[in-house]
Amino acid sequence: MSDITTYQHYIDNAFVGSDNLVEVRNPANADLLARIPEAGNEQVERAIAAARAAQKGWAAKPAIERAGYLRQIAAKVRANAPRLARIITVEGGKVPALAEVEVNFTADYLDYMAEWARRLEGEVLTSDRAGEHIFLLRKPLGVVAGILPWNFPFFLIARKMAPALITGNTIVIKPSEETPINCFEFAKLVAETDLPRGVFNVVGGTGAGAGSALTSHAGVDLISFTGSVGTGSRIMAAAAPNITKLNLELGGKAPAIVLADADLDLAVTAITASRVINTGQVCNCAERVYVERKVADQFIDKIASAMAATRYGDPSVESDLDMGPLINQAGLDKVAQMVRTAVEQGAQVITGGAVADKGKGFHYQPTVLAGCATDMEIMRKEIFGPVLPIQIVDDLDEAIARANDSEYGLTSSIYTRNLSAALKASRELDFGETYINRENFEAMQGFHAGTRKSGIGGADGKHGLYEYTHTHVVYAQE
Ligand code: NAD
Repeated sequence: MSDITTYQHYIDNAFVGSDNLVEVRNPANADLLARIPEAGNEQVERAIAAARAAQKGWAAKPAIERAGYLRQIAAKVRANAPRLARIITVEGGKVPALAEVEVNFTADYLDYMAEWARRLEGEVLTSDRAGEHIFLLRKPLGVVAGILPWNFPFFLIARKMAPALITGNTIVIKPSEETPINCFEFAKLVAETDLPRGVFNVVGGTGAGAGSALTSHAGVDLISFTGSVGTGSRIMAAAAPNITKLNLELGGKAPAIVLADADLDLAVTAITASRVINTGQVCNCAERVYVERKVADQFIDKIASAMAATRYGDPSVESDLDMGPLINQAGLDKVAQMVRTAVEQGAQVITGGAVADKGKGFHYQPTVLAGCATDMEIMRKEIFGPVLPIQIVDDLDEAIARANDSEYGLTSSIYTRNLSAALKASRELDFGETYINRENFEAMQGFHAGTRKSGIGGADGKHGLYEYTHTHVVYAQE
C-alpha cells in the first residue's frame, strides 16, 4: 500500500489533494499502480477560476515569450523521456518502442507549436467604403478544457495544450482515468519551469465526475475533446446550454482498399502494422479491408501469416513486442463479442479469433476474419482491437462506395500502382485523410480531422492552431 503513489490535482501552480480517489491499474497484469484524485465541482471551479485569472496576463505577453515556455517544457520532456515512456507502457499497455516515439513526438510537437509564435496572422481586407480600413484580428478564446483519451495520453496533452497556449489561451486538462499518471508527472515537470501560475492546470477524475463538471461549466470557452463518439455526443449536450465552442476528435473505422495492381507485400506490411500498433487501439488505423477479388486469396494468405507472427504479451516485462494488452476488461469483452457476432453472421476466422491465455491481462489474439459483408457489425462499428475484417470487392468503384458507407469519416487508405486510381480515390473518398500506399501516422503540420461522426473541427498545423482563436473584425474609418 505504502509505495503506491497518490497523485494530486495541479491547480494554480499548487498540488491539491482530494478525498475521493480512483485506482489506476496495469492492463497487462492488473497490478495497482497509483491512485488519482477525483475532482468535484469545487475543484473544477477552482481550476477554471485560476485559468481565467491567468488568461489576460498570459495573452498580453508577446507570442515569442509564450513560445519560450513551451520550449522549456519540451526540454523537460526530453530530459525525462525514458521515465515517461516507462509510465506510458505500464499504465496503458503500450510497447516500449511506441511509448518512446510518443514521448519524443510530444516534445517535437511542443517545439513545432512554439514555432508559430512569429507566424500568427490576421488579415487586412479591402473595404467598399472610401477611407476605411478593415482588420481581421485573431484572438484567444479564453479558457480551454482539454479532455483526453487513454490511447495516446501523453501526446494528447501537447496536442491540446500547445496550440491553446501559443495563441494566448489558458487550459484545464482532464486526463483519462485509465492513463492519468503520465499527465500528473507532466504537471510536475511543468511546475519546475517558469510557466506563470494558472496557465496550465490538471484535474483528475472520471468522465461522469470531473469530465462532466468541466464540460457543463459556463466558464469554459472551448472544449477540446478527443475520445469516443458516444462521449462526444454527451459533451455536445453538456455544452449546449452555454453554447460552448467544441472541437471534437472522435472515433474512426478506417477502410483500407487493396487493388489488384497493388504491391501486395507493401500493403500487407503496412496494414498489419497499422492493425497491431497500440493493439489496434488507434483512431486512424485500418479497421476494415476491401480487397479486389483477383488478389483476394493471395492477400488473405499473406496477411493472415503476418498477423499470426505478431509478438504480443506484457510490455512491462518484455520489451521486444509488437503489441501489449487491450486497455481494460470492457475493451476485451467488446472485441471478443464483436468477433463472436461476426462469426455467427458468416465471417470465417483465418487466424486468431479468441481471448489469449496470458495471465491476468486483457490480451486478445491477432485476428483475421474473411468473408465479411457490409452489413456486419464488424464492418461498421469501431473494433479498437487487433482484429482485421476483410471484404472482397469487384472493383475500385465498389470499394469506394463501401468505404464511404460508414458513420465514421476520419481516415482511409488505398494501395495501388495506378496513379489515376489513387487520384480518383482521393477525390471520391469522403474522409478527413487518405493515405496512399501507406497507413496511419499523420504529420504535425497536416490537419487531422474527420467527416460525419468522426468529429467537429480538427487538430495540427495552421488549421488546428486557429481552432483555438476567434476572429474579431475592426472597421476603421479615416
Ligand atoms: P472515451 O470517450 O471513453 O473517454 C475519453 C475521455 O472523456 C476520458 O477522459 C473520459 O474520462 C472522458 N469522459 C467520459 N465521459 C465523459 C462525460 N460525460 N463528460 C466529459 N468527459 C467524459 O474515449 P477513450 O475510450 O478514452 O478513447 C478511445 C476513443 O477515442 C476511440 O473511439 C478513438 O477512436 C477515439 N480517438 C480519437 C482520436 C482522433 O484524433 N480522432 C484520437 C485518439 C482517440
